[in-house]
Amino acid sequence: MNNITAVKGFKDILPEEAHHWHQVERIVRGVFADFGFQEIHVPILEKTELFTKGIGDTTDIVEKEMYTFRDRGEDSLTLRPEATSSILRAYIEHSMFSRSSVTKLFSIGPMFRRERPQKGRYRQFHQIDVEVLGAEEPQADAELILMLVHLFKMVGLENLSLDINSLGCPECRLIFRQKVIDFLQDTHDSLCPDCQRLLVNNPLRVFDCKNDSCRRLIQDAPSILDFICEGCRCHFNQVRTCLDMFGMPYNLNTRMVRGLDYYTRTTFEITVPHMGSQNAVVGGGRYDGLIRDLGGPDIPGIGFAIGFERLMSLLQDRQESPPPPVLFIAALGSEAQAAAFKLCNRLRLEGIRVEMDYAGKSLKSQMKKADKSGSLYTLILGEREIQAGEGELRDMGSSKQRTVPLDNLKSHIVQ
Ligand code: AMP
Repeated sequence: MNNITAVKGFKDILPEEAHHWHQVERIVRGVFADFGFQEIHVPILEKTELFTKGIGDTTDIVEKEMYTFRDRGEDSLTLRPEATSSILRAYIEHSMFSRSSVTKLFSIGPMFRRERPQKGRYRQFHQIDVEVLGAEEPQADAELILMLVHLFKMVGLENLSLDINSLGCPECRLIFRQKVIDFLQDTHDSLCPDCQRLLVNNPLRVFDCKNDSCRRLIQDAPSILDFICEGCRCHFNQVRTCLDMFGMPYNLNTRMVRGLDYYTRTTFEITVPHMGSQNAVVGGGRYDGLIRDLGGPDIPGIGFAIGFERLMSLLQDRQESPPPPVLFIAALGSEAQAAAFKLCNRLRLEGIRVEMDYAGKSLKSQMKKADKSGSLYTLILGEREIQAGEGELRDMGSSKQRTVPLDNLKSHIVQ
């Protein structure tokens, strides 16, 4: 029989990697706390209509990538492809807007998209999601971008490329949409089949096409910034002024439309030049009509999602091994083994990292294991030592050994 392997596009996070993830998560959580964010856990499974309504039914995610199934023939359910819709559903369902005018939330967890797996692109991947609900002021946009860049700096990443754009509000986008249709109408036959279809359903998404000939065609397309209304222009200018206040460099990328339909006004992305086609590490933006569209009050929102795997791949060379045990206990004989079992777990309960081996092997073999574990000390226990209430404590760094009383072992260990 063939071995059962993980599902294509789904991957295991092995202990060393998981340890590194935790270290990064700790920094991320610290930054979020400083900026006043609170954690929320939302389910990974939602009713399908949440995503079709939220993300938009002509987006790649909803059209092609969702893991959707009927729950024993009843409701249509979907493994979440992103977290914003779920967080907003929870925000509305629990009337969180009535507790505070501005709510700042974050969530960390797995997302599921049935994309073609390749390096940096998985079918189960993790995102760090951040949402600010209830603030429409441009300061909220700038503050979020500022926090994001600060967060990257805190984990040790600088000089990444920040792109920003404004997608306007539904009114000015309608005008721009028509301009794009007019512009591409004459070149319709030269567009790839996907873009020909998008031109009818969702023309702005043509800007996302990776096809070389489509890219060439849209090079001269009109820019959204020439069509946004006075309110949107003023909002975007203020976002930029706030970013300038912190000397934050960014590229104005008027071709960036982002792949989800709900975005309005400010959108942003952080990319890494050498990462190839999967070079976006963060995507985010404002979604002022989304809470209302999902059945809640008309409350503005803005957020971003960091791809955890992509973030970690940038930090690969900084991976540190998990800390070794402080003490390894090598016990010889059944009586010493029993005493060692007790001592080992007693010390663990007191918060000391201790390891031992229950296989009853020779002293040489246990010492080898202690060495391999990287422990700072090894305690050697034999029948004679147990009778005397003592053990031989070996400092693995200096190889010096001394006899220590077992009831006062802790004071002889320097962690
Ligand atoms: P999006 O929700 O599409 O705006 O994506 C936000 C971030 O999630 C991206 O910038 C990527 O870093 C990450 N991401 C999106 N899709 C995948 C995927 N299939 N595999 C790994 N990371 C992903």
